Amino acid sequence: MSPPGDRLPEIVAPPPGPRARALSRRLAAAEAPGVNTLAGAAGAEAPSLLWAEAWGSNVVDVDGNRYLDLTAGFGVAAVGHRHPRVVAAIERQSRRLLHALGDVHGHPLRLELAERLAARAPVGERGAAAAVYPAISGAEAVEVAVKTALLATGRRRVLAFAPSYHGVTAGALALTSRAAFRDPFAAHLHPHLVRLPYGAGEEAVDRALAAGDVACAVVEPVVGREGVLLPPAGWLAALAAACRRHGALLVADEVFTGFGRTGRWFAVEEDGVRPDLLVCGKALGGGLPIAAVAAPRDLFEVWRRGGEALHTATFIANPVACAAALAVLDVLEAEDLPARAVHLGSLLSPRLETWPDRFARVAAVRGRGALWGVELTDREEAKRFTTRAMEQGVLLLAGGPEGKVAQIVPPLVIGENQLAVALDLLEQALAG
Ligand code: PMP
Repeated sequence: MSPPGDRLPEIVAPPPGPRARALSRRLAAAEAPGVNTLAGAAGAEAPSLLWAEAWGSNVVDVDGNRYLDLTAGFGVAAVGHRHPRVVAAIERQSRRLLHALGDVHGHPLRLELAERLAARAPVGERGAAAAVYPAISGAEAVEVAVKTALLATGRRRVLAFAPSYHGVTAGALALTSRAAFRDPFAAHLHPHLVRLPYGAGEEAVDRALAAGDVACAVVEPVVGREGVLLPPAGWLAALAAACRRHGALLVADEVFTGFGRTGRWFAVEEDGVRPDLLVCGKALGGGLPIAAVAAPRDLFEVWRRGGEALHTATFIANPVACAAALAVLDVLEAEDLPARAVHLGSLLSPRLETWPDRFARVAAVRGRGALWGVELTDREEAKRFTTRAMEQGVLLLAGGPEGKVAQIVPPLVIGENQLAVALDLLEQALAG
């Protein structure tokens, strides 16, 4: 029987339990080392969890331990894991059509999704018609956005920021800031990259764009897995204005922040900014892989070439993923989950903001809506914190350039009591 998603944690076998240990050992041997980070990291025997089931805010592992998922599955489960409307849509669609012909033959749900996303996305001039370019992963969608900008401007440089995370396929990796990801492949990354610190002053931004050869600036409106950083007040709007002045396009990477995470449908809305291209993924599919870029329809005209699609992939606009995405949009609207994220933020912030004073190992906390970062004093402390949290039944991930920022990213549907209990357990983990 499925567990309801509104339960509190229950640890029945100290995690990782015996079954997780056995399976993660086999997984480490069957897959390339490192794909499953903890399994076999640095040659050490470090078994990871394996998830058996999830619903709402609960994850159950293969040993029967039940957790509260404060990762929302990398931010994917905004509507909760296995939302009944998402599951019903997947079931319905899987009885009709699992796959169509990507860039050759479409299907009706893809049309509906493109229309709904285009209507929602705050891109280009207000009131101008928008359109969508479908993709499978966040990284691919970032690459589509950059390719659009390169085609549209005929320029070759791209402005990105540090820290940032935009994915790790070669095109997106060029923009991602973390040296550990980039350095082994540096010879194969886009060489025409300009990098500025996140929040760089107006003068520096202006200087970077003034040469007139920058096609686009790619920015996370709130930095996600690279440490949860909010932009300085007015900075995104100033960046947008600078881009406009210098003929560069603004690409907002909302793969993490999109679909309510920070309290708005899209985080750029908080700053009153309408980018030229908006990249989204993660939460869109409710658990199925799907991503997209939204832009003014006129801007996408640059892809009209009369031949085969210049950018495509076998699985773009997968019918089942489109069905799931449409259900996610329905749930976000029906349950007003962006407003729910604001409410979660009002529960989280007063409590989290006491942590730096109460716990010596917490250096800082910051966030907005349902996206918070708890910066520990160092990587070891962050690791200890996330491990203790897991042992108490709370799933957390640490990120940031130095791996010391634990992210609090609950499903937007998490119950107030669940959240309060999760915070109690996290405080125990910090105190211990
Ligand atoms: N952009 C941002 C802001 C992200 O957070 C991520 C994933 N964490 C990506 C892009 C890449 O998405 P994907 O993993 O689906 O390629």
